[in-house]
Amino acid sequence: MKFDLAYCLSLDTKLSIYDVRDLNFDETMAFDSAKEHFQCPNDACRSAFGTANVLGTINAKSVNYIRTPHFKNVPSTRHMEGCPYVSLKTSSAEGVESDDGVEEHFPSELLLTRRQYVRNPDSAEVPADRGQDQLPVAPAIRQVEHPPAESAPDKTSVFAHPVECFVSNFENKDLLKRMPLKIGEHTASYALFFKKIEYLQDNKGLIYWGRIKEIKDYTQSFRIDFEKKAWLEKKPYTVTLYLGKKLIDSYRKRKAFLEEIKHAIESEQELYCFFYGVTPELKQVPSKKNPDQTFGVFSANIENLDHFIIRQAPQLHAK
Ligand SMILES: [Zn+2]
Repeated sequence: MKFDLAYCLSLDTKLSIYDVRDLNFDETMAFDSAKEHFQCPNDACRSAFGTANVLGTINAKSVNYIRTPHFKNVPSTRHMEGCPYVSLKTSSAEGVESDDGVEEHFPSELLLTRRQYVRNPDSAEVPADRGQDQLPVAPAIRQVEHPPAESAPDKTSVFAHPVECFVSNFENKDLLKRMPLKIGEHTASYALFFKKIEYLQDNKGLIYWGRIKEIKDYTQSFRIDFEKKAWLEKKPYTVTLYLGKKLIDSYRKRKAFLEEIKHAIESEQELYCFFYGVTPELKQVPSKKNPDQTFGVFSANIENLDHFIIRQAPQLHAK
């Protein structure tokens, strides 16, 4: 079991680990999870202890990860009796928490509008040092109003969260068929919402995914070719995504994105691409060798990098 959420002192709100990652990489937001205080999401439990009683994070800051990101108890973390998160502490026989395991908290909805955060001015200066003898920071006083949709624990605006649910639970087909996911007006099980790229013609508006064959670096822009082809009238067609310079330059997580894609280009690992928001369509493009001729390709321009991920996913190999 992992924490679904943790209370973030300076933002005076509960965040998922995916919110934390999103904030860490957001260049428009001053946020560094290593300097933040995360505490038990159970309000009663949290208020029973000082602000020095904190949680740790796993994979909050690494752009590329394989192990499922999460919050965890650190050796000094305490919970009150009856706190539903108390059992996390002794989840293994040795009383040592395991850092492995799948994402168990399936968001039921991916919100397409980004979550907004308001930093609590009272706790803007959170000391980085979390020594035991340090005086506790004054608890956050100001209440920030969050619209219900944004703070609902089973909703997320971070695409990486449902993707991690799908990837880490890939072997558990029954679970993926059971869990519902809503995006916009469309609701389907995780199993149906995630569509292999070769079957993209089955339905529009899904989350498409597939193994990457090649990433072409045009310096300012990128092209991604998938390994599997889409078939139409017994003919195979390459599936390609384009990522434009303007899109990348204006992205609030530009640095992290460039790190992610450059790492992908140099990587020897098998990589997968997940995207939502566009459905590649058959287009005729001019041939490079012979500009008079054209050939067909299923292609799309990515319009929102928030709904685009390149990552390792060993769980999906050879499937
Ligand atoms: Zn607790």
